Amino acid sequence: MTVKQALSHAREMLANQNIEDPALETELLLRHVLRKSRAELLSEPDHELSPAEVETFLILVNRRLNGEPTAYITGHREFYGHDFHVNPTVLIPRPESELLVERALQLAHSHNISTIADIGTGCGAIAISLALDLHDVEIYATDISRSALEVARFNYQQYDLTGRICLLEGNMLDPLPRPVDLITANLPYVTDAELTRVNTFGFEPSLALNGGPDGLDKISLLCRQTHEKLCQSGYLLLEIGQGQRKTVCTLLRDLFPLADIEVIPDLSGIDRVVSLSLP
Ligand code: GLN
Repeated sequence: MTVKQALSHAREMLANQNIEDPALETELLLRHVLRKSRAELLSEPDHELSPAEVETFLILVNRRLNGEPTAYITGHREFYGHDFHVNPTVLIPRPESELLVERALQLAHSHNISTIADIGTGCGAIAISLALDLHDVEIYATDISRSALEVARFNYQQYDLTGRICLLEGNMLDPLPRPVDLITANLPYVTDAELTRVNTFGFEPSLALNGGPDGLDKISLLCRQTHEKLCQSGYLLLEIGQGQRKTVCTLLRDLFPLADIEVIPDLSGIDRVVSLSLP
């Protein structure tokens, strides 16, 4: 079986199961087996796979067909142009969270921001993407899950960011030693009822997805804690789920009557990031 044949065979199996983007997923799985870059893989379509490589590839394709996310199978996920190690103790970074990073970078480049805290950092994708772009900013990254922090530590060591990010174990803003200029957070916001509809259900940690009956348990708690841990003229950037805009904005308006609140839609037009600027 050649590279080209392996790709088209697996692509068809994934497509038959209505897996989104079967071409990309197939390519990631085969690259993982052959340990090749995309360019290497695609430049050798007629390369013959060994029988062992075919067997391994088919096992991985079957795992994917059984619902396991490709990112957990390969142990990698790309986010904001960087490669991150992931495992089932962390949420797989989503493209829509890149909006949060973009917005945070815009703020940090145009305002006086010297400290940032990323809350519920998971594999560290947001905190690390910020640290790679902002060389003079001190960054804290917190998570309640010790195993998630181990993944984040592995990732920041891969990027030689040791000493640039301070990892803190604990709930929400509790572990922060002092107020910061910018808080970013992609907290769990899926409602109890919607949980089984997330296509990675059963594989991703529900601790990282489930936000309780209305999805806003964690986001509300963070908003209420923000007073103590956000500096004057500071910023809070929150990722939210579909339909949560009104409740989150109302809560923030009650807590911070003088603040500016803006909501930024993602590429699908869904309100995705709430941005609060303190006066
Ligand atoms: N965006 C994710 C999903 O709907 C949820 C991420 C989160 O809860 N923070 O699958």
